[in-house]
Amino acid sequence: MKSIDQAKLQGKKILVRVDYNVPLNEQFEVADTTRIERTRQTVDKIVSEGGTAILMSHLGRPKGEVNNNYSLKHVVMAASRILGYPVHFLGDVLSPETEIKIKQLPPQSVALLENLRFHKEEETGDSNFAQAIARLGDLYVNDAFGTAHREHASTATIAQYFKGKAFAGYLLYEEVTALEKVLTDTKRPFTAIIGGSKVSSKLNILKNLVTKVDNLIIAGGMSYTFLAALGVKIGNSLFEPEMVQDAKTIIKQAHRLGVDLYVPIDNVCGNSFTNDAEIFVTTYNDIPDGWEGMDIGPKTIKKFSTYITHSSTILWNGPVGVFEFDNFDKGTKSVALAMAATTLTGAYSLLGGGDSVAAINKYGLSDYISYISTGGGAMLEYLEGLELPGIKALHENE
Ligand code: AMP
Repeated sequence: MKSIDQAKLQGKKILVRVDYNVPLNEQFEVADTTRIERTRQTVDKIVSEGGTAILMSHLGRPKGEVNNNYSLKHVVMAASRILGYPVHFLGDVLSPETEIKIKQLPPQSVALLENLRFHKEEETGDSNFAQAIARLGDLYVNDAFGTAHREHASTATIAQYFKGKAFAGYLLYEEVTALEKVLTDTKRPFTAIIGGSKVSSKLNILKNLVTKVDNLIIAGGMSYTFLAALGVKIGNSLFEPEMVQDAKTIIKQAHRLGVDLYVPIDNVCGNSFTNDAEIFVTTYNDIPDGWEGMDIGPKTIKKFSTYITHSSTILWNGPVGVFEFDNFDKGTKSVALAMAATTLTGAYSLLGGGDSVAAINKYGLSDYISYISTGGGAMLEYLEGLELPGIKALHENE
């Protein structure tokens, strides 16, 4: 991909697709500013080189209709504070007034368009809509890794109207570099920890990772389907019977490839899915009826921590327990700690996915991880070996 470093920005209006799909609290204030912070370098580059940054994004799922709850107006104040420039709110992308406002912007300004998903054509990747957005800028920069797996008008279709003038922003570039480092320039041993609730949502990433890693740790709700496939009694734990065959295939493939596949060997169980559930810790895996596995047990914590600390590359996606409940978060905390500690001794660590990022933040360890991806779905699809439409569009039009 051509990076923004190769663009001539002086005097140009640069349409920058960012991912400001940030959480808002009840007062419609931005509750987590990470995604805005991560675009600062790109915006700084544009302004400092004499360009004007016209930022565009989606926010939530307004389903093609104008809905004030999802207005990017709510993001303007936080963006101005974090980016360090007054952010001019432009309004709707198709409105003639927006065009006038853009013409009147002083040089080296930063401006933000209204939520692109107020138009259903954004998500359908409509060419006319993409062309209408394109007329507002001289160059196109994609810095929205979190949305790069979507083939939408502003993330993919639009690039064809900027042949030779389509660039990757610093964040997109950095994300791809970090993922490539893990996948192709891997220091071994390479350990992946894949947790979360369902095998079905992570099946493809498991299939691809088993061909790349030395150790594959499968934990969280999805591990119970693997345990069931191994003939272990799992009580009332999360279970996807239709995935048992796939779990068996992955276990066999790991064995054939000499990959060490680890699942929990003991479990912290609850008698209901609440933080206040009665707790029972199994001494080995069998979980009685009426109980469900909600976290990995102490023996598993010890084992997993050892595998992690003996690794040179660590990839983590998905909590290993119901970490939102404080009584069931010790496993996830131990993975976070082991990962941070191993990074301090020189290992390369990468994590992504909303819950894993929330977990590392919950334990105050984010500064000790080599790279934290802003993409959940995008990161998973990249790790599955898929070419993301946003990245493909840049390649085809660079
Ligand atoms: P995912 O979106 O697939 O990464 O799943 C994340 C969710 O998995 C989190 O909300 C966790 O609470 C949940 N989770 C992790 N371990 C378990 C478990 N043992 N049982 C049920 N849910 C779990």
